[in-house]
Amino acid sequence: AHLDRITAVEDRVHAFLHVDTEGALAAARAVDARRAAGEELGPLAGVPVAVKDVLTTKGVPTTVGSRILEGWRPPYDSTIVERLRAAGTVMLGKTNMDEFAMGSSTEYSAYGPTYNPWDLTRIPGGSGGGSAAAVAAYEAPLAIGSDTGGSIRQPGAVTGTVGAKPTYGGTSRYGLVAFSSSLDTPGPCSRTVLDAALLHAVIGGHDPRDSTSIPQPVPDVVAAAKAGATGDLSGVRLGVVTEFSGEGAEPGVAAAFRESVDTLRKLGAEIVEVSCPHFEYALPAYYLIAPSECSSNLARFDGVRFGLRTGDDGNRSLEEVMSLTREAGFGPEVKRRIILGTYALSSGYYDAYYGQAQKVRTLITRDFTAAFEQVDALISPTTPFVAFPMGARTDDPYQMYLADLFTIPTNLYGGPAISVPCGLSEGLPVGLQIMAPTMADDRMYRIAAALE
Ligand code: GLN
Repeated sequence: AHLDRITAVEDRVHAFLHVDTEGALAAARAVDARRAAGEELGPLAGVPVAVKDVLTTKGVPTTVGSRILEGWRPPYDSTIVERLRAAGTVMLGKTNMDEFAMGSSTEYSAYGPTYNPWDLTRIPGGSGGGSAAAVAAYEAPLAIGSDTGGSIRQPGAVTGTVGAKPTYGGTSRYGLVAFSSSLDTPGPCSRTVLDAALLHAVIGGHDPRDSTSIPQPVPDVVAAAKAGATGDLSGVRLGVVTEFSGEGAEPGVAAAFRESVDTLRKLGAEIVEVSCPHFEYALPAYYLIAPSECSSNLARFDGVRFGLRTGDDGNRSLEEVMSLTREAGFGPEVKRRIILGTYALSSGYYDAYYGQAQKVRTLITRDFTAAFEQVDALISPTTPFVAFPMGARTDDPYQMYLADLFTIPTNLYGGPAISVPCGLSEGLPVGLQIMAPTMADDRMYRIAAALE
């Protein structure tokens, strides 16, 4: 049914870069065989899942939305995909994304944009616009995304779906093509909070192949989502982030946010205001830290080891071939970040830029720690504006970066955060963000489920 749905709508939505029809049917048959053989299968056995093209899939093309990896078929599965297969889920294919997960609209994909199913003239968010649009357009019931600065939550908000960023280190980065290693976090996209929790439980948990993976079991997110569904939030203290509640969000988003705050209060939650004075520096700090790490991580795309190679006619030096390959293989936004990051890390500027940004990161973490001494979780709108028209923000990188104003602090801190639909503005979906302390992913799901 999902493959049929993909056939019916995909030429308008373009959520996928690769649909693995044969692989999906074979996986579905394998689940039937396992069931027939009496194997006890988990709750997601047989359920289709779409996977963001940032995760390696054995023998299935993995491009990261970039020309530089065009045609690359990885020889191994990422841990997330391995766990999805073990759980008996059926991978439908790989979803579109901004090149190397850098962007907020999926317009920076080298393979053309994805269109928002709510309004095909508008963006579906990014970088994981393909995963969110696939779920919103009923092409897939579940999808995997990755969140470095908001790329699961912001697409969730603007497509009226649920997007959760787990605690950093709570989901494995093994086989996740690296953008910014200290921030990258794979996580679930879905239509309900319980669905996200079920998927989170399957993909999460310690992985010895990822050195930053947390050696602890995943909190019981499924039980938490079920407990939250009763709609009782008495005894829960929620903090509205002062810095994110006033200006910064467009009026329709601010109004929908205020309404959900009222709803949370009616469900029994106590609402207080909490100031996080350093959050306003999160965006500039992120745009030094993430490009710095990206400039280092993307050095491996040298035209020798992976994918594209350009200009290797036998007469050129290795350096010339590398340069021509990178010139042809990377798009403008990726080049901008590599240049920015190389500059920020260069000797002489290191202390002024990268070093300074790391200090700001510490101050933001302290804001979170202090806030969580007063409240159980923080809330804000997920993103300052609803889905914008295609092309509206591509000319000015700063305008694009603003989409993640509210989501980035959590990545710098490392805690979990979720976006849940919280109403409409001008007929377009608005998301509410719930941010919880590190490893309190269960608490985040409980609060989010109460709103459904
Ligand atoms: N939009 C942000 C960026 O461009 C976040 C991306 C992400 O979370 N992968 O860096």
